[in-house]
Amino acid sequence: MTQLVMGILPGGLITWFFTHLYYRKACTSVPDWAKPILEKLPDEPPSRERLLKLFQDALESGDVKPDPAVGCVACPQCGAPSTDFLHEAYGDDCRTIVVASCPHCGWTDHAEV
Ligand SMILES: [Zn+2]
Repeated sequence: MTQLVMGILPGGLITWFFTHLYYRKACTSVPDWAKPILEKLPDEPPSRERLLKLFQDALESGDVKPDPAVGCVACPQCGAPSTDFLHEAYGDDCRTIVVASCPHCGWTDHAEV
């Protein structure tokens, strides 16, 4: 049992070390909109509650803006910020459909407004 614990613990530490190293390296090429969020991240893995709090703070401060039509904060396909999305509206007397599209990868989604 002790050997099992002694094997798992270093394994977890090694995994965390390389993940941490990659995260630090990746910080140099993050988009501008994500920098305020990443700068607030602690040096150890944040809890789900902490991540939600950071995300909520970013929403409230305006650092992250959900797309008004489809609600995404970033393109689900390429990660471009939702502020880059293009919108087209179609409709008749009864309803209006807004199509949001990503100019970087061509992803589209629509919503009735
Ligand atoms: Zn995209």
